[in-house]
Amino acid sequence: MTVEFFREEPTARSSWRLAVLMGANVRTYFALGGALLGAAAEGRTDILLRDLAKPYAMSLVEHLAQAPQASSKVVAGGLDFLSVAREEAAESVRLGSPTEKLLAAAMKSMPAMVMQKFHNLRGDGGAEVPHRFYEVTGTSRERVVKLTDHLREVALSEQKASLQAELAARWSIVETSFAAGVGRSLVEEGVAVDLEALQITDKERRRSVAGVTEAVIGFQHGRCIICAELLTPGVDDVAVDHVFPYSFKRLLPGADIDLDAIWNLAPAHRPCNGQKSNQPPTQGQLIRLALRNEAIMQSPHPLKRTLQLTLKRHGFTGGRVGEWWDFIQEVRNQLG
Ligand SMILES: [Zn+2]
Repeated sequence: MTVEFFREEPTARSSWRLAVLMGANVRTYFALGGALLGAAAEGRTDILLRDLAKPYAMSLVEHLAQAPQASSKVVAGGLDFLSVAREEAAESVRLGSPTEKLLAAAMKSMPAMVMQKFHNLRGDGGAEVPHRFYEVTGTSRERVVKLTDHLREVALSEQKASLQAELAARWSIVETSFAAGVGRSLVEEGVAVDLEALQITDKERRRSVAGVTEAVIGFQHGRCIICAELLTPGVDDVAVDHVFPYSFKRLLPGADIDLDAIWNLAPAHRPCNGQKSNQPPTQGQLIRLALRNEAIMQSPHPLKRTLQLTLKRHGFTGGRVGEWWDFIQEVRNQLG
């Protein structure tokens, strides 16, 4: 099914989303992704590992500083680096750049660990995403990271701001799910939506975790759910569409279908959303919604859990590919 996501739009950008949105749930991936996007957005063809390690290490310690209680979910071999990061976090944040000790630990662990695994497809026996974004070259004394054309294509695309925001949203959601207290409720019960603020929140404390748009737009390839054209936050005016309009609620007495939940909410151009108003969704919109939800199901974080619970509540297994289309058809049929 991750393959399905790529097939819908076989581009370097989709490969990037496979790695960042559907890859392993570890913070070193997000730190590397952010550092790579930043370097490539400057149009660079290569960068010293030392220079890539700085934003990598800084973004990690900034997250650690915000969530000091977080558990250490790391890829094998990553514990040493993360324990150094914890020790050096306060001082690095104070300095505004990583301490020498932290930088040395990052430069040692990156090529051996996260940079080996970043391209891997999760749970697919060593298969990799279809595009490569970097190669580590140079000598052991001075490592150089070559940034590929594919990476520059991604980092310089019209969706570059969106990609950074998606990465930040996913990191925030995952980070919250590591956090003591909130984490367990997120992982078990999924997320809630604050429709007024358009934020995803944890069910227990109702604290904002990430924006709805930033959290889900990558899974719909950064496209408007209504017209399927590119949707660029910051350039386009973005609305969050109820794919089945909220006004349908009264047509569904007793059906107990929550139209205000993630499964039915999708970013759209504001003009498209205004024009659609209370009309029922078209076949194309429903197909896009089902594909978007299937893509989220491939992403190992609490959004997936939220969607699983929706399916289970309505008699589905919550684990079989294709269930979203069946569920969405069922809702539509109930509307007559
Ligand atoms: Zn549109």
